[in-house]
Amino acid sequence: MSSIIGFPRIGQNRELKKALEAFWAGKCSQSELENVAKELRAKHWEAQKHQDFVCVNDFSYYDNILDLAYALGAKPARFKELSGLEGYFAMARGHAKGVACEMTKWFNTNYHYVVPELSENDNYEANVDSIKSQYAQAKALGLKPKISLIGLFTLFGLSKIAAGEPKAIFTKLKNAYLTLIDEIAKLDSEVVVEFSEPIFVRGWQSDTPQAQCVYDKVAITEVYEAIVKKGIKAIVSTFFEHSNELTEVLLGTSIYGIGLDFVAGSKNTKALESIAKSDKVLFAGIIDGRNIWVADLDSKLKTLESIAAVVPKERIVLTTSCSLLHVPFGKDDESKIDPQILSWISFAKEKLEELRVLEDLFQNGVGGANKGFFESNKAINAARRTSEKTNNKAVRNRVSANTLKARNIAFKERIKIQREELGYPDLATTTIGSFPQTPELRALRLGYKKGAITKDAYESGIKEYIKDCVAFQEEIGLDILVHGEPERNDMVEYFGEQLEGFVFSQNGWVQSYGSRCVKPPIIFGDVARPKAMTLEWIQYAQSLTNKIMKGMLTGPVTILNWSFVRDDLPRSQVCEQIALAIADEIDDLQKGGVKIIQVDEAAFKEGYPLRAENIKEYEAWALECFKTSTAVAKANTQIHTHMCYSEFNDIIKTIEAMDADVISIETARSGNELLKVFKQVGYTHEVGPGVYDIHSPRIPSVGEIEAQIKALLEVLPKEQLWINPDCGLKTRKWEEVKPSLKNMVEAVKAVRGKL
Ligand code: GLN
Ligand code: ZN
Repeated sequence: MSSIIGFPRIGQNRELKKALEAFWAGKCSQSELENVAKELRAKHWEAQKHQDFVCVNDFSYYDNILDLAYALGAKPARFKELSGLEGYFAMARGHAKGVACEMTKWFNTNYHYVVPELSENDNYEANVDSIKSQYAQAKALGLKPKISLIGLFTLFGLSKIAAGEPKAIFTKLKNAYLTLIDEIAKLDSEVVVEFSEPIFVRGWQSDTPQAQCVYDKVAITEVYEAIVKKGIKAIVSTFFEHSNELTEVLLGTSIYGIGLDFVAGSKNTKALESIAKSDKVLFAGIIDGRNIWVADLDSKLKTLESIAAVVPKERIVLTTSCSLLHVPFGKDDESKIDPQILSWISFAKEKLEELRVLEDLFQNGVGGANKGFFESNKAINAARRTSEKTNNKAVRNRVSANTLKARNIAFKERIKIQREELGYPDLATTTIGSFPQTPELRALRLGYKKGAITKDAYESGIKEYIKDCVAFQEEIGLDILVHGEPERNDMVEYFGEQLEGFVFSQNGWVQSYGSRCVKPPIIFGDVARPKAMTLEWIQYAQSLTNKIMKGMLTGPVTILNWSFVRDDLPRSQVCEQIALAIADEIDDLQKGGVKIIQVDEAAFKEGYPLRAENIKEYEAWALECFKTSTAVAKANTQIHTHMCYSEFNDIIKTIEAMDADVISIETARSGNELLKVFKQVGYTHEVGPGVYDIHSPRIPSVGEIEAQIKALLEVLPKEQLWINPDCGLKTRKWEEVKPSLKNMVEAVKAVRGKL
């Protein structure tokens, strides 16, 4: 048997995105939106027709966690009077009645879920309508549905406790959840539900207020026993890592099946003996749901055989390692990727096919109906392993021979030299890099890409923009200027497009949140930089001013973490290759007269492993890669880095070890509380804590920023502080950016005057 945990819902051509945005803009009715949803579900089930079940309720208008919270009546008080889709989208996107719920990353993926807010004053209730209608749709099509439902423990663990005692809230939520299960049980004579409980892979290391309830073995047993008693055929699945601590607990309950990830959680094999001794069906996550490479069926079969050596074959169901939400729909529309590279790629639809074939090979041997498929799969994988495209000798040799892995002059001496040569004041003002991306700018880039605009016209358009940016920054008196990044639509794609070893799909969209999709670059081969990527623009910008122009690069760890990465090399090695490409760029920039270079690591923290036992290893190589990329910088080249978050408590030592001369971070939304950790550890490098929040259109006043700077000065001395917004300004409008930055510079002047 085979089945999946979930299918991408945004649609082959992002139909859901388009319908949602039309609906929000008042250009399509609710029933039109519902029809699009219906059609999408039917199409996605059609793709699953060879599986033993089709997934129901993996569909969502925005997010599954939100769906479940909403179905349980877990609405923040500010939206209490709202109902239906209005209340639902209010939680996701905000409403006149109040701000949206927060959004955060779904484990270590780039998918964001809406964080439910729970409070002791809530009264939960169950509403099964949405699940019921989806179930009925599948039944009417003659399909065998399996309901995908977020498990109670994962829901509770990922929520935010707005007010009250976690235990009391948990009990209330549990009661509503079990009522929902009652309603689900009524849908059919026997309803199959797959409960996703990825929170169980975190083991016991969680310091949230909910942890006690989430990792409570007695509660887990009680809840799943209750669910089974209600007549549900329950499968509980974990993914993204192993869940050995809690697998044992689940095996002690009466659930029907247990789903484990054998791709990202290879240690799950430790549970096989216990599974064999139990009566559970094992849903073995064998096809990678996170990556886009053709499965090596031969090696997958070997893994399955080793599992089957312990657990009887008839109790094994093949499945994907996690929901296919994290990969694009299918590769039918890709016509621009080199055909050989395309043959190595497998998106969701292709993965379903792999699963179907693998199931046949596993049950009936490799000599049967799918012999041809198996042989060609072998050939594809062999070609990929040996292709010149994936093996660039020069790159490999360079990585293994590289000894320049850190700057050779200590920070203390470097900073003296830099201060002297660069001559910037205390509380130096700067920005994070990008300036507003206007519709005209987007049209210019798109026109150029499509060939509608000539190279000359494009370049003069970009230069115009840079000119305006520089003039504005000079006018308001910023200390260190930037060129504004008008030539970039994305901080990773811009570099990926110029590096060897990357390809870009035309239609490989993956949902990031709600209607927002991203098209991650695909790293298929060894990475090298044929020529300078940013030098000309920075030099042009520098030619317009006597002030210092800061060069802008994206760091190796961020490029890695926001791409689909080849799986035939360790991530650390791929990252090392990118690091050397970035090092080349830094060297070109400094030789070209650029004095300050910022290497953004917006996604450094995102790459942290889910389990504590793996953190050291990640930190070691990620750190080494960042240092390798910046090691070429001379003592008088100042290296900045930027990170889009503020929680540094756990990682401050690693941040310090990155050895960037200046780090800008996001503290605007959290005040100077979070900065204190820098003081506590005796952090000596320079820091630019964001003094205002760029995620909001609000214009901060001079007084407000002044107060913020004073608060910063209570924690760190003026010599150590830089003043900047908390992230790039590309998503803002000029009308917001101009007065905000003006006020920022005014505020700094005022503070300096009083020092
Ligand atoms: N330099 C980038 C910008 O300003 C940094 C963006 C980011 O860190 N997300 O847009
Ligand atoms: Zn940022």
